Amino acid sequence: MTRPTRTAPPDGFDAVLLAVPASGARELLSKVEHLAPLAQRVEGVDVAPCWTLITAFPHAAQPTLNTLGPQWNAARSTHHRVAWLARESSKPGRTLIERWTVQASPGWSREHEGDDPARVSAKLLKAFGEITGIRATPTFAEARLWRQAQTLVPLGESFVWDAALGVGVCGDWCIGHRVEDAFVSGLELALRVIGD
Ligand SMILES: Cc1cc2nc3c(=O)[nH]c(=O)nc-3n(C[C@H](O)[C@H](O)[C@H](O)COP(=O)(O)OP(=O)(O)OC[C@H]3O[C@@H](n4cnc5c(N)ncnc54)[C@H](O)[C@@H]3O)c2cc1C
Repeated sequence: MTRPTRTAPPDGFDAVLLAVPASGARELLSKVEHLAPLAQRVEGVDVAPCWTLITAFPHAAQPTLNTLGPQWNAARSTHHRVAWLARESSKPGRTLIERWTVQASPGWSREHEGDDPARVSAKLLKAFGEITGIRATPTFAEARLWRQAQTLVPLGESFVWDAALGVGVCGDWCIGHRVEDAFVSGLELALRVIGD
C-alpha cells in the first residue's frame, strides 16, 4: 500500500485508528488540515448527554416487603424529564435493597447540562416519585452527567476509513449507542483495514 508522504501515518505505523466519542474524533481530525474531509464526515453526528440518577432505599427492606412502589421493574417513560427507569435490585444476583436507576430524556439532559448535580438529583427524584408513586426519601441519591450518551443522529455507516491516508474512526455513535454497536463498528473497521 503506497501513501503520499505528507499524509502517511508516522514511521513504524501502518494506520491510525481512532476509537473515541464523536466529539473527540471531530476535534482530533479537524486539527490536521488534510484530515478535514474526514472531520466533515463526522460533523452531522449528534450525541446527547444523559443525566442519570442512582438511588437506594435500604430502610425500606423488610422481610414481608419485596418491593416498594410499582409492580414493574423497568419502563420507558413519557414524563418530560425521564426517559427510562430500572429497578436495579430486581436484576439477578442483586441484594434485596430497593435501588433504582433513572435516566433523564435527551432533551431535558441537554437543557440542564450545566446544572448542579444536587439540583438535578432533586428534580429527577421528584419526577421519579410522580412516575412510580414512591415518595419515600432515599438514603442515597446521586445524579451524574454522562456526556456522550444517546446517539440522536448516528454516522449511518459502521466506520470511517480512508485507505489512502491510513486513518480510520469507529465507535458506537457510528450506528447507535449500545455496546454491541461499538463492537460491530470496531470489528468492521478492523476487517476492512486488514482487507485493504
Ligand atoms: C453509565 C453507563 C451505562 C451504560 N449501560 C449500557 C448498557 O447497559 N448496555 C449497553 O449496551 N450499553 C451501555 N452503555 C453504553 C456503552 O458503554 C457504550 O455504547 C460503549 O462503551 C461505547 O464504546 P466505544 O468504544 O464506542 O466508546 P467508549 O467506551 O466511550 O470508549 C471511548 C474511549 O476513548 C477515550 N477517549 C475519549 N477521548 C479521547 C481522546 N481525546 N484521546 C484518547 N482517548 C480518548 C475514553 O477515555 C474511552 O476510553 C453504558 C454507558 C455508560 C456510561
